[in-house]
Amino acid sequence: MKRDWTAYDSAKQSMYIRDEYRCRHCHSKVGLTPHHMQWRSAGGQDTLDNLITLCIQCHDRVHDGLLEIEWGPLGGDGPVKFIRKAGYR
Ligand SMILES: [Zn+2]
Ligand SMILES: [Zn+2]
Repeated sequence: MKRDWTAYDSAKQSMYIRDEYRCRHCHSKVGLTPHHMQWRSAGGQDTLDNLITLCIQCHDRVHDGLLEIEWGPLGGDGPVKFIRKAGYR
């Protein structure tokens, strides 16, 4: 499937507004990047309900398997659970 960059841009914009331009884990306001809850490599979509704002440090930890994110019942609109794995620093 061809990636729709316009749709991705607007989903990212909505994500930053929803997350108040802060990392959802450490609340940093610098180095923000979108993370796909379901990774794109696993078929995750560029939609608001699959995106979460992280800073680059937290984002690296997620991709290194040191931090796991679980949506709560409200998805990105509600509290999100972060699980620190062995080796987290
Ligand atoms: Zn962070
Ligand atoms: Zn990511």
